[in-house]
Amino acid sequence: MQPADKTNYKGQKIDLGRFPRVHFCHRPTPIESMPRLSGHLGGPKLFVKRDDCTGLATGGNKTRKLEFLVGEALSQNADMLVTQGAVQSNHVRQTAAAACRYGLGCHALLERRVAGVGPIYEHTGNVFFDRLFGAALEFREGGLDMNAEAMAVTERLRAQGRRPYFIPGGGSNVVGALGYVVCAQEIVEQSADLDVEFDWIVMATGSTGTQAGLVAGLQALERPMPVMGISVRQPRDKQIRAVHDLTARTLEHIDGGTLPGSAVVVDDGYVGEGYGMPAASTLEAIDLAAKFEGLLLDPVYSGKGFAGLVGLARANFFKPTDNVLFLHTGGSAALFAYEEALFPQDARQAGADS
Ligand SMILES: *Cc1c(COP(=O)(O)O)cnc(C)c1O
Repeated sequence: MQPADKTNYKGQKIDLGRFPRVHFCHRPTPIESMPRLSGHLGGPKLFVKRDDCTGLATGGNKTRKLEFLVGEALSQNADMLVTQGAVQSNHVRQTAAAACRYGLGCHALLERRVAGVGPIYEHTGNVFFDRLFGAALEFREGGLDMNAEAMAVTERLRAQGRRPYFIPGGGSNVVGALGYVVCAQEIVEQSADLDVEFDWIVMATGSTGTQAGLVAGLQALERPMPVMGISVRQPRDKQIRAVHDLTARTLEHIDGGTLPGSAVVVDDGYVGEGYGMPAASTLEAIDLAAKFEGLLLDPVYSGKGFAGLVGLARANFFKPTDNVLFLHTGGSAALFAYEEALFPQDARQAGADS
């Protein structure tokens, strides 16, 4: 990249000043290189953007979204946040923590989306933190329309005289996605500062707000670096449609122009058996990130995203000279709920001892 371009890119800003917002995300999150893992894989050059270090209750990507969601809640004079997620939801944990910071209540519905989990699954990890932050928790069986369930609860609370603000699962709407428009801006600035052009950004994609905000932001900045979403739950075509829809709406929300049909890229080769069920490649990715780079991934999201990064590198999807940025979306709080998957021997041993 030429220095003249760099100045232009750095100067370009998306004005988000008209959107209500509060500030609690540690920003910019660092971009670090991963030289030991790059060497192990024989290229490309790997980097990681540490959105696991956003600073709220063990961090993660929902923190950025919540700056705008809580901002809107406060602007509407809400007295509580209502949301939903899977039992080990990182989104619910960060929402519960953000609510505490602003003196709001938090009511969360937790869907039993993952079958065959042990007894500690509903107590440890993220659920432990939800309780610590005093969130009111209601469990639901898997397979329901959870946003509809949470909206019904929102109306129930309103009828009781509360002033609830509803946040959809994952904070994934145009308001939450603004958090990743901010992240796009950051990546463009850091790329200039580091003098590194990223050929690909790789990340886990679930409820879509993160990829949608990032792609919308890069489009609006006229810096459409390719972004590869690694699906954690559903087939490629379905995920592309969902991400594309929210990206287009987010672009409209920020007056960022129109979205080219090819801007949303998803790989569904690392889902394994389904949401919340780590595949062998997920467990290997968690192990590689830990042993080569001292990084904590999680078994539901970032482990699958990182497995995609490793798998694509091994398949020579990238050129050896490419600079590839992994967006680390956090999630390590869920590790404790997956001890049996990570250390099956130890778990059996502990069972035999008791
Ligand atoms: C929610 C989450 C994601 C996925 O982000 P979406 O915006 O839901 O697509 C990825 N990683 C972690 C750790 C998450 O908690």
